[in-house]
Amino acid sequence: MTGVWGRVWIAGATALAIVAGGVSCAAAGRDEKSKAAGASVTPSATGPVLSAEEIAEQKMLAAIDVTLKARATALQAGQLPQYLATSDPKNAKLVQRDKQVFANLRQIGMKQVSYLRQVSFSPELRPKLGKNARAVRIKMLTQIAGIDPAPRLTQLGYTFVERDGRWLVVDDDDAESGDRGEGREPWELGEIEVSRGRGVLVISSPGEGENGRRLVREAEAAVPLVRATAKRAQAGILVVAMAAPRSWSGFETGGHPAGAVAQRNLTPTNAEATEFKVTASRIVINPTERKEADRALLAHEFAHAAMSPLGEGAPTWLVEGYAEYVQYKMLEQSNFSDFVDRERREFRRELKALVVLPIDGVFHGDYDENSYGVAWLIVEHLVKTYGQTTVNAFYTELAKGADDPVLRDKALVKYFKLTEPALVAALKKAS
Ligand SMILES: [Zn+2]
Repeated sequence: MTGVWGRVWIAGATALAIVAGGVSCAAAGRDEKSKAAGASVTPSATGPVLSAEEIAEQKMLAAIDVTLKARATALQAGQLPQYLATSDPKNAKLVQRDKQVFANLRQIGMKQVSYLRQVSFSPELRPKLGKNARAVRIKMLTQIAGIDPAPRLTQLGYTFVERDGRWLVVDDDDAESGDRGEGREPWELGEIEVSRGRGVLVISSPGEGENGRRLVREAEAAVPLVRATAKRAQAGILVVAMAAPRSWSGFETGGHPAGAVAQRNLTPTNAEATEFKVTASRIVINPTERKEADRALLAHEFAHAAMSPLGEGAPTWLVEGYAEYVQYKMLEQSNFSDFVDRERREFRRELKALVVLPIDGVFHGDYDENSYGVAWLIVEHLVKTYGQTTVNAFYTELAKGADDPVLRDKALVKYFKLTEPALVAALKKAS
């Protein structure tokens, strides 16, 4: 078994929690061929002479941009007829989907919604959806009011078709150009229920509002501990706890399905939305665990969310050990101290075999089942010996840098006056 949460709640289960990466913005192949036909080509007296086809494509792309703008404006203003007017009225299924997405986004409450067409992506023909139908890649930016500190990027594939001189959406989920894998945004999965608390918003499947409200309470119990430990926390956090398998992208760690993930919010840092930074995270709960997920699991994921914007340089033992440390503290605060003591004793036995810190290559390998527990004991030892503030400063410095053994050794000396062998020896002595 792996992960404290799995140990507490799921007899014989393998759920554990990890931090997941952000959205991939790959598919360079198609981007490259499109450079010549990109929207930046401007006809001029001295510039390239455009063919009739190229001029037609420019006009089409301009019309698509007008439609996207109108779609975002209507959504933001709560104007359903105007929103639906940007979709192909002949496609009844799409119109139905549109209505649901519109209702969901309004229910969640968006501070900001916008769609950017990826100009480096060459539109692809989709003859099955109509003569001249074109798929384009869209960057959708959503900022949930009171939750997201900045707009979050989602990559979509839209197909447009010409109707009476306008280019309208005929498909909002073109798999190939969207390049999204299996997972979908929670508002794309049919009806939802939304539950709110102080700085938390939970999205559940229809009929599961009670579980959503339970998770709001669990989240509200976890937030103060995370804030007190990390000395930082998001102003608000989204928790997705849906039954739909596609709310979950099938994250695994060490070969086991995770119980939940902290999924990073990527926010563009330039106008073309080609560069990003991590501004927050949302928590996505594995659909199979949504009814059991509790404050301990959420404390683990919220710790990841709090630390994520610092950077990605911290080694896995520190990232997971820190989150486990918060999770075990949550359990101690929740009358599970006996359980935590048993766990500590068990992992102390594992520490005897420790030769070096469980570096990333072996975190899920050699240590496998015990990686999380061993990492927890290392962080707990550091906090007890050097104080939370020093450990937080150590984490911050490593997160900001490259994941490099030389930097790690330097930071160990700087913050704890320790070499790695000395830390390992101290851990064994303390256990
Ligand atoms: Zn984790």
